[in-house]
Amino acid sequence: MKNKTIASFLVIGFAVAVVELSAAPLKDIRPNILFIMSDDHAAHSIGVYGGRLAALNPTPVLDKLAAEGVVLENTFCTNSVCSPSRATILTGQYSHVNGVKSLGGKVLESDQALPLAMRDAGYQTAVIGKWHLGTQPLAFDYYKVLNSQGKYHNPEFGMRVSPDAKEIQIMEEGYCSDIIAQSSIEWLRQRDKTKPFMLFNQFKAPHGPWDAADRYNDLYEGIDIPEPESLYDNKGNGSIATRGHNDELLFRIGSSVGLRNKFRSHSKRVDKEIKKKFSSMTEKEIKHISYQHYLKEYLRCVRGVDDNIKLLLDYLESEGELDNTIVIYTSDQGMMLGEHDYVDKRWMYEESLRMPMIVRYPRVIQKGSRSDALINNTDFAPTILDYAGVKMPASMQGRSFRPILETGDEPADWRQASYYRYWMHMKHHHNPAHFGIRTKDWKLIFFYGVDEKGERGNVRTPPGWELYNVKNDPLEMTNVYGNPEYAEVVKGLKAQLKNVRFEVNDVDEAFPHIAAITEEHWNGGEEDAVRISHEVANAAVSERRK
Ligand code: CA
Repeated sequence: MKNKTIASFLVIGFAVAVVELSAAPLKDIRPNILFIMSDDHAAHSIGVYGGRLAALNPTPVLDKLAAEGVVLENTFCTNSVCSPSRATILTGQYSHVNGVKSLGGKVLESDQALPLAMRDAGYQTAVIGKWHLGTQPLAFDYYKVLNSQGKYHNPEFGMRVSPDAKEIQIMEEGYCSDIIAQSSIEWLRQRDKTKPFMLFNQFKAPHGPWDAADRYNDLYEGIDIPEPESLYDNKGNGSIATRGHNDELLFRIGSSVGLRNKFRSHSKRVDKEIKKKFSSMTEKEIKHISYQHYLKEYLRCVRGVDDNIKLLLDYLESEGELDNTIVIYTSDQGMMLGEHDYVDKRWMYEESLRMPMIVRYPRVIQKGSRSDALINNTDFAPTILDYAGVKMPASMQGRSFRPILETGDEPADWRQASYYRYWMHMKHHHNPAHFGIRTKDWKLIFFYGVDEKGERGNVRTPPGWELYNVKNDPLEMTNVYGNPEYAEVVKGLKAQLKNVRFEVNDVDEAFPHIAAITEEHWNGGEEDAVRISHEVANAAVSERRK
């Protein structure tokens, strides 16, 4: 009877306060939050999301979690790179508002809005694992986080056991994902069990450079990992912005699986003995070998995450807390797994843009449900706060998707387009800066191709537009931007893009050189793009000769 009463309280959304009686305090029955985030774990490498890798059964534990909860198919990041996505999750703000546009960004304690609000509301808060933001997670009660990117083996952590304690540095022997999950279980074990908790368990895996635990060395051995068709034939994907005029920038833009990108390619990670034989192989053979190497390394790290999630869930179950805990699984963004011959993330293409989002909370979420509502990572903090019965701070730009989780239905005024912007023009993996919107049916991208620093930054790349019908062409094999048949679609989406940019307040007031490019190329500017393409091609050739 008591449980039934508790469940109905939660269903109607009461924030239940701790009730002090004359005897011992009653248990606070608000749900716990277990937020499990991995790093660079693409949704299409999770079985339940389908796709070419599902037949390998890469994530049995996550698939079971999904079968007991809801899968959100259209959860997108707003800037597909580690620190910015993490900053957005903590603040509920887009990168241009929280200031973390690149890997160097910081979120000050006073801006760590989600853990601050949860702590104020009486939750016990902890973050364990990868953090990767310039300042430590000072707004959490407890933290044990990797230094910077962290190491796969014998990792070092900065640890602070309470807000009054000093941070200490510790090194732990073993494999990173095992240690992170085990540390989370240890924290859960010693917590104050009269209060609800919010635990962020953040795996480093499967971020590169991939180094799985030894027990996975033979996993997928002798198996040919299915390859995307676009690895070998990229057909109509891309534009002058990503391929150059007449494909003259293929060797320069976007790090590759095979030898295409002369500056950064996965083929360099292949074992030395095999690399020695490259000179007698075709480019296609090298690409095949590099892809198999890449995916096996990656999927072995994925399995380490999946196995450890089982330990976390089993622990909660053994304590009788699993069904009172909202378990959220996500990753800070997706990953290109060889599609279009790309590695890494950063792109607004589906594989990089999409975040996995699986939520289990059987009291109110239907088993095995799915939704295609457009969610993005500004919504995570508002949703967690909603479940905790905490008012969302006015600083947050996202919106709680709790009604979608529980009913599958979108509120009538739910967003129709998710905004995206990648700022780190041509850094690390040679991706040009771009922004755009993703609706349920379409994706419109504008590559403005310049650093926010202007002439002091990286070289300009040709501006260009891409339009994909993601409903009929989910693999984005045909950029239909220039096709006159879609002229009206383009017009409508451009108006929508302009509105969304205005709504989220990303209009480049601080970057007049970007605003000028956007204006010049909004409708036209093709000759200018061709000129820039030639300049980049020539500059890159001389760079290679150096
Ligand atoms: Ca990441």
